[in-house]
Amino acid sequence: MHAYPAGAPLGQIRTLAYIIPTDKPEADGTIAWNSTTLVVVEVDAGGKTGLGYTYASASLVPLIEHMLAKAIEHRDAFDIPGAWLAMQRSVRNLGREGLAATGISAVDCALWDLKAKLLDLPLARLLGQLRAAVPIYGSGGFTTYTDDDLREQFSRWVADDGCRWVKMKIGSDPERDPHRVEVARATIGERGLFVDANGALDVKQAAGLAAVFGEQQVSWFEEPVSSDDLAGLRRLRDLLPRDMEVAAGEYGYTADYFRRMLEAGAVDVLQADASRCGGITGFMQAAILADAHHIALSAHCAPALHLHVACAVPRLRHQEWFHDHVRIERMLFDGAPMPHDGVITPDLSRPGCGLEFKYSDAQRYRAH
Ligand SMILES: [Mg+2]
Repeated sequence: MHAYPAGAPLGQIRTLAYIIPTDKPEADGTIAWNSTTLVVVEVDAGGKTGLGYTYASASLVPLIEHMLAKAIEHRDAFDIPGAWLAMQRSVRNLGREGLAATGISAVDCALWDLKAKLLDLPLARLLGQLRAAVPIYGSGGFTTYTDDDLREQFSRWVADDGCRWVKMKIGSDPERDPHRVEVARATIGERGLFVDANGALDVKQAAGLAAVFGEQQVSWFEEPVSSDDLAGLRRLRDLLPRDMEVAAGEYGYTADYFRRMLEAGAVDVLQADASRCGGITGFMQAAILADAHHIALSAHCAPALHLHVACAVPRLRHQEWFHDHVRIERMLFDGAPMPHDGVITPDLSRPGCGLEFKYSDAQRYRAH
């Protein structure tokens, strides 16, 4: 008789929040910020520790400790679908979206990391590895940046990291955006150029700007209008130059959100974020929905967290190499991926996600 590996009961969940200042003031079309909050979750079972995280708010810590931890207490570490459902049900009366979803995401990522470690497998192998490496696009170009900041950041991504595409924020001062886009275009040559308005514009404004951006070979217009305006996004797919795609989905917290966005025909490329949409489990649901609609998928932010699942889902075009998160992952996670020729590659010699959190380095950022 062959013996299949047994799971182990989940032990205690530990949750800590860290507030990390940005290297410069940052803004996009709708908000400005000077720091990023990282919430780290660890869960033990069978002598191993699973690690997950999300970028959210320190107010998430008690929600995870008091509600989510209780919902999955003593569960078998291999029963991730059961744990995921129990967490979803536990927050029903709070609302499954927003903060609750970011907490479920962090815990779900920790459970997948734990399961892979218990089986002594890299997570990509446990999920089923479709591709060896994942293309990245450099993402930053904040509206607070000077032209020189923009040149410096974009030339680094193109020259040092080999990125085939870069993305910049627009929409806080639409009059100035064609000039900023021109600076970016002159810096990156023939590489792909994406813009992201974070929902700052209305349909007519977006269509007007897109006509200019079309001349500048912009190939991707992210959240030209609010991602809640599915009809507006749908209209823009017809109004934009033919070679310019509409992308949205980063505020998707549930499979229903992605389904509605896809059913509305609102996007050419769906974005999903495992640190918000229900973790590895939720990201795979989004990927399957995109696949069923014949729509490409792009992973949003938190590149180290996405790398293994990005290797395992169909129709994944690329993942976002977001400046703030790349910087934090490099500072605080041992095993964070390094780009090479425009791709990142999972280290298959390490089990799970291959990441270890550097608690002592992070100590000075602890939120209290
Ligand atoms: Mg965006």
